[in-house]
Amino acid sequence: MKCLVTGGAGFIGSHLVDRLIEDGHEVVVWDDLTTGKRDQVHEDAKFYQIPVECISPSYHDEKHNAIFHLAAEARIQPSFEFPQRTHDSNVTGTTKILELARHTGAKIIYAGSSSVYHDQYANPYTFTKLKAEEYCTLYNRIYDVPVAIARFFNVYGPRQLEEGAYATVIGIFERQYRNGEPLTITGTGEQRRDFTHVEDIVSGLIAMSEEEWDANIFNLGTGTNNSIKELAEMFDCETTYIPARPGEAKDTLANIHDSKAFLGWRPKKVLKEYINDLLATEH
Ligand code: NAD
Repeated sequence: MKCLVTGGAGFIGSHLVDRLIEDGHEVVVWDDLTTGKRDQVHEDAKFYQIPVECISPSYHDEKHNAIFHLAAEARIQPSFEFPQRTHDSNVTGTTKILELARHTGAKIIYAGSSSVYHDQYANPYTFTKLKAEEYCTLYNRIYDVPVAIARFFNVYGPRQLEEGAYATVIGIFERQYRNGEPLTITGTGEQRRDFTHVEDIVSGLIAMSEEEWDANIFNLGTGTNNSIKELAEMFDCETTYIPARPGEAKDTLANIHDSKAFLGWRPKKVLKEYINDLLATEH
């Protein structure tokens, strides 16, 4: 297959690009490098630095069999500060990709978020991720664009950011653990998250690309969850509490029935084993 991966320089996208190239596919990456890193894009992928919302019809000449659309303003907290940029990247960026698919016959695998199971008005990120999903459904219904929608649940693993507004909780805990600092638990720490390893997310996306779908939604999670307190306990070190962050869900937990039944996909990685391996290598 000839594949386009938008956001292919980012945390999840760069792992997907590696796997597609390993599997023998030809890969093109479009990424504006706002959070992505050029040096984590596989050297055999063709790379273009471009914001997806700026794609013009001249880009419709290049044909792809599958488009994995991951480029986005990808975190809740920065979206409060930059609602316009969040809209441009997440909504306009998605309609531009759908137009590309409409004109070139590509299928789309869209990277959605589990946050849409909660209040869509809680933050600009969730709202725009849901609008983008709705556009995917619209283009499928009206223009027959084959689309599959993945909803990711808290992704962790190598290359996750450990610092700044884009850091994931596991990334932050890993950095604090390495530096011998107390782990900072937000709010009460009772909030629960379905933590999913990036390799499982990549397998799910690839399984979705093997067929054509009519805007079907697939949850990519583990179907189990842990509280932030339980996660911190796995590191077995000091903790401290900091204020809760606005706009975040109380709990996330994936129902993965359809992903198992229709994709034949199952998550393989276990959080506790990942943390144990990490602690073993740090010592
Ligand atoms: P990330 O920030 O590492 O990746 C996003 C990539 O998109 C980056 O490389 C960034 O430079 C690029 N990008 C951002 N805006 C762009 C634009 N306008 N044009 C072109 N490129 C742009 O984040 P990630 O965690 O790898 O997230 C990838 C996708 O998965 C996103 O769509 C995100 O919403 C979704 N998602 C992630 C999680 C998670 O837990 N990490 C959970 C749910 C959904």
